[in-house]
Parts: sequence; C-alpha cells; structure tokens
Amino acid sequence: LNYNKAEFTAAYGKFSQLPPPERIEIAFAGHSNVGKSTLINKLFNRKNLARVSSVPGKTATINFYGLDNMYFVDLPGYGYAKVSKSEKERWSGLIEGYLSSERDIRLVFMLVDMRHAPTKDDIQMIDYLIDTEMPFVLVLTKADKLNKTERAKRLEAFKHEIPCFEDIHSIPFSSQTFEGVEELRQIVDEIADD
Ligand code: GDP
Repeated sequence: LNYNKAEFTAAYGKFSQLPPPERIEIAFAGHSNVGKSTLINKLFNRKNLARVSSVPGKTATINFYGLDNMYFVDLPGYGYAKVSKSEKERWSGLIEGYLSSERDIRLVFMLVDMRHAPTKDDIQMIDYLIDTEMPFVLVLTKADKLNKTERAKRLEAFKHEIPCFEDIHSIPFSSQTFEGVEELRQIVDEIADD
C-alpha cells in the first residue's frame, strides 16, 4: 500500500451515519490519550491526518480514512473521566455499534499504554474482542518511555493483567523511535493483498 495516499473521509457522530460498508476495514481502538492519533499519523506518514491533542477525550466521533480498497476506522477514545454519563454511553454505543455491525472489519488494532496496567475499560474491550472472536492485535504504545528492565517488567505483568496475553499477538510501538511501524504496515499489507 502507498501509505502516503490515505485521505480523511469524514467524522461520524452517529452509527447510522456511517458510509455504506463497501470496503474492507481496519479499526483502531483504545483509551483516550493512549497515542492513537499519533500512531495513525505515523502509519500514514502525516503530521495531521488524525488530530493529535494534549487535551484528551473531546472527540466522540468515528473517523474514517480511505486508502485503496480499505477504510481505516478511528474509534472514539474511551475512558475519559471528565464527561457526563450520557456522553460516555453515547461513546460506548458508537464503539459497540460499530464492532457488532455487519461491516467487513478485518482487524482491530487494540492500543494499550505499555507503561501501565490496563484500565478496566481496556480489559472490557479486550474481553469483548475475544468473546466476539474479532481478530485483533494488541499494540503496546509509548514503548520509548520504558527502559529495557521496565519493559521486561511490564511484559511480565501483562501476562497476569490481560486475559490470554500470551496467545495474543502484541507489538510494542513507539511513534518516537518508529518501533513497530513496519510491523503494523506488514499486517495491513497482508490484509490489503488478501
Ligand atoms: P489519542 O488520544 O489516543 O489520540 O492520543 P494522542 O495521539 O493525542 O497522544 C496523546 C499524548 O501522548 C500526546 O502528548 C502524544 O505526543 C503522546 N504520545 C503519543 N504516542 C507516543 C509515543 O509513542 N511516545 C511518546 N513518548 N509519547 C507519545
């Protein structure tokens, strides 16, 4: 794939607004502030394709990016504390509505901050992906912030914190060092060529 050619399609605030499911899709999910926008920008060699913000949690939309025969789907970052209950419900409605839809979702990149134990919401998402047999890859973000010892410690801890961690394909990722970028692209290329 020519990653430089991805184009922003649109942002949708309601599940019913999504474009017709005429392409295969790869989705990105994660806690707000996990580094999802930064990862999408790295993947597509762009500064501002996905908006990177230091104020987390404002965008409660599903954002679509088109490239070739694919849509890349940026799900709203969940778990932001400072929003109302009804707004939280709207977000989880969007995420669940999308994941449980009949759309041709080939893979979910599930992002988790490598520095910390996963949140309750992260575990709920991972459980949901496992239960629904949705293919997913765990992307462990901000890997550059850990030294070798800390990294080994977190990987060991994840074995206890994340269900089936050792059976899940996981990729340490850093938008600072580019660690993991090529591996993500290879996975996407395989799906595109399928
Ligand atoms: P999003 O809410 O998941 O879209 O998160 P953002 O992409 O906006 O990133 C949140 C914050 O984490 C920003 O300040 C980013 O600069 C920072 N960040 C994202 N990815 C990385 C990374 O790989 N390494 C480091 N050190 N910081 C990162």
